[in-house]
Amino acid sequence: MGTEEKVNLLDFDQAALAAWFEARGEKPFRARQLLKWIHQRGVDDFEAMTDLSKALRERLRADAEVRAPLPVTDQKSQDGSRKWLFELADGNRIESVYIPEPDRATLCISSQVGCSLNCSFCSTATRGFNRNLSTGEIIGQLWMASRLLREDGSLAVSNVVLMGMGEPLLNFDSVVAATALMQDDFAWALSKRRVTLSTAGVVPGLERLAEVSDVSLALSLHAPDDELRNELVPLNRKYPIQQVLHACRQYVGEGRRRVTIEYVMLAGVNDSDARARALAKLLRDVPSKVNLIPFNPFPKTRYRRSSAQRIDAFRDILHRAGIVTITRRTRGDDIDAACGQLAGDFMDRTRRRERFELTVSAGTV
Ligand code: SAH
Repeated sequence: MGTEEKVNLLDFDQAALAAWFEARGEKPFRARQLLKWIHQRGVDDFEAMTDLSKALRERLRADAEVRAPLPVTDQKSQDGSRKWLFELADGNRIESVYIPEPDRATLCISSQVGCSLNCSFCSTATRGFNRNLSTGEIIGQLWMASRLLREDGSLAVSNVVLMGMGEPLLNFDSVVAATALMQDDFAWALSKRRVTLSTAGVVPGLERLAEVSDVSLALSLHAPDDELRNELVPLNRKYPIQQVLHACRQYVGEGRRRVTIEYVMLAGVNDSDARARALAKLLRDVPSKVNLIPFNPFPKTRYRRSSAQRIDAFRDILHRAGIVTITRRTRGDDIDAACGQLAGDFMDRTRRRERFELTVSAGTV
């Protein structure tokens, strides 16, 4: 039987795995045993799963497999961070980044091959969009990275951020199933504080997420006014700032702490004192904290990073307004692993960028 016909067990969260077992006449509690083997012990060889009967192990071997993305490159930065280029079964390539700190280690993972949102300051956008990742391809980045880190004796991943390539809320079901596995005590057992979904502000997705998940939320805001945000994050034309912040307020309102506001610092574009004051005012009634992200350049970009002094001045204005603000330290820039530098390797299947540019020039957006 060819690999393609086998079920990929990484595609199943606990509920789906229990249903799969039940449909095959097995006890649903087997799902928990199997999850532990796969996700906690990193085992992909059914023979090693000694608390499953021989018959069950044989059936699993015939019908299923653990199929994670395969690393094609593995780059280590001076500062200890590490970037993998992973190849998927169809040849598409995506990137994940590991960021160790003294007390924790964060893995930044991708949710789509490319991205359709076309934010003007993001290098993923320059590559266009190819397709959504499956649940197995999303959790598989964590699975494979953890295996490789274990081999090296590196600090295990303690936090996951969906801040790599793609817009997670435009790949809703697969992202939710993957985060369920991250939070499941029988799989990765990460608390809600340790799993963060970052979005450009897909309002219907935020509303649905509030119903099914309690992951931490980050919003890529980048501008305090619609005019500038329309330019930086074209999705804003569909879901303007007030609608997005309302959805965020609803989301964090139900005991989910604060939303992290991401704000990329672009010299002379969004980094003035006036914009800092406008941002402070905008966030007055949003339970939030702000992450200022120094812009990370990539080839052909028209933007420059704000100076360190400008970033400090911007931060001070927010501080004085009582808003918790940190400046994100740039990590892994020697291996192009910093925010907004992930590009992967794929063909733009939709040619969305060109279509988008056409609609904009025809004045229909
Ligand atoms: N689509 C989601 C997930 C991507 S997260 C989102 O928009 O939130 C990646 C984060 O890095 C976002 O906050 C994004 O705005 C930011 N980013 C993108 N390009 C960047 C760049 N060149 N320099 C710094 N940050 C960037």
